[in-house]
Amino acid sequence: MKYVSTRGEAPVLAFDDVLLAGLAEDGGLYVPEEWPQFFADDLTAMAGRSYAEIAFQVIRPFVGGTIADADLERMTDETYAGFDHPAVAPLKQIGTNDWLMELFQGPTLAFKDFALQLVGRMFAHVLEARGERVTIVGATSGDTGSAAIEACRDQENIDIFILFPEGRVSPVQQRQMTTVESANVHAIAVDGTFDDCQDLVKGMFNDAQFRKAQNLSAVNSINWARVMIQIVYYVVAAVRLGAPERQVSFAVPTGNFGNVFAGWAAWKCGLPIDQLVVGTNSNDILCRFFETGEMKMSGVEPTLSPSMDIQVSSNFERLLFDMLGGDGAAVRDWIDEFRKSGVVSVDDSRLAAAREKFSAARLDDDGTQRVIREMFETTGELLDPHSAIGVDAARQCRGDKAVPMVALATAHPAKFPAAVAAATGIHPALPERMSDLFDREETFDTLPNDIGAVQDFVRHAVGAHS
Ligand SMILES: *Cc1c(COP(=O)(O)O)cnc(C)c1O
Repeated sequence: MKYVSTRGEAPVLAFDDVLLAGLAEDGGLYVPEEWPQFFADDLTAMAGRSYAEIAFQVIRPFVGGTIADADLERMTDETYAGFDHPAVAPLKQIGTNDWLMELFQGPTLAFKDFALQLVGRMFAHVLEARGERVTIVGATSGDTGSAAIEACRDQENIDIFILFPEGRVSPVQQRQMTTVESANVHAIAVDGTFDDCQDLVKGMFNDAQFRKAQNLSAVNSINWARVMIQIVYYVVAAVRLGAPERQVSFAVPTGNFGNVFAGWAAWKCGLPIDQLVVGTNSNDILCRFFETGEMKMSGVEPTLSPSMDIQVSSNFERLLFDMLGGDGAAVRDWIDEFRKSGVVSVDDSRLAAAREKFSAARLDDDGTQRVIREMFETTGELLDPHSAIGVDAARQCRGDKAVPMVALATAHPAKFPAAVAAATGIHPALPERMSDLFDREETFDTLPNDIGAVQDFVRHAVGAHS
């Protein structure tokens, strides 16, 4: 199994190199040269298997032998043994043929743990085998940062720097990043938005000298390994709900397009998926794209669902690569045009092809509150604001009612307690193991939205203890 860059000018790599590289050298994102196929027999054989066993089966062809089977199996076992619920990703019925898949049973209470807990182990394993160390830099709108820090803490061959927009992450998210006592962990508050943080990270990667000197690596959702590992829960949900005989649909609260792209990848691998529904908050660039074919930037407005407050969805480039027939030069032109003018489009036939699988809906903060309240009143379930957007998008875009619709619940309600309490009057409690989060001491640095300042900080911090 080999991987190519969406911009066509970076070396073709095997999985272990893609894992460590994060972003491709030409600024593109790695995608598999071809999609491995799950056949009906493979899916049938997964019925009744544990989450960890299915994870091993799904991930194995993508890893392509770069991690030995026995090691990969041990890592998938260890990863999902660390989740709070024995089902790992429990499916709850919320309507006649409507389901909620809880993806918040991991250490930091958001779906990002599914990928990052395993990515951290894969990094440590590959680095140790090579006798190398890396500097991981990442931008977060909240959940990636805590999940990445939790996955990399105490790893001897990794330094991790996480940039978050000051004052725009929830207190729980912030404390999950700033209360980790580990010398290799650096949480940095940036005076700017999430997109500013993301641009700073891209800027560091585009500085070839700095990239090489620090041996930079990324674990934000541009890293292929994360998308790959997220394919697993789509397969698990489908198998539990009757695949390969029955189709399944998914509704996904979306920001960087990493999660729902994993659903699309699962479909490319042969999983019988009918619909992929994209849910956005009022930062609705993706929703507008799927309605009109035009990708048009606008300002970012803070919402109750901060992990989706972004204007440029980096993983969209992976879908674009497919939409443009795998033509890296065409992807480059498209992205250049978007960066230059803030608006670019695809033609009607390409949009129509994408819309055979994708549909999209948006929900503002008032709607989000209403959905949280309604869900609580009708089922007793507490939804976090992101999950509520997925549930609502599922209702708005539902096609064939005979096909089970799975809304992905991406965060635990206790991660966004203010919004949940305002909607329901219930203050959701953190799990017992985290109940002292607000008593722990915070450590973090605050930096301006300035690439030079951030690079100096990284150089100094890595130099200080290596
Ligand atoms: C990151 C995140 C999202 C958005 O996921 P993408 O892969 O960026 O689309 C949605 N909900 C929560 C809770 C998140 O943490």
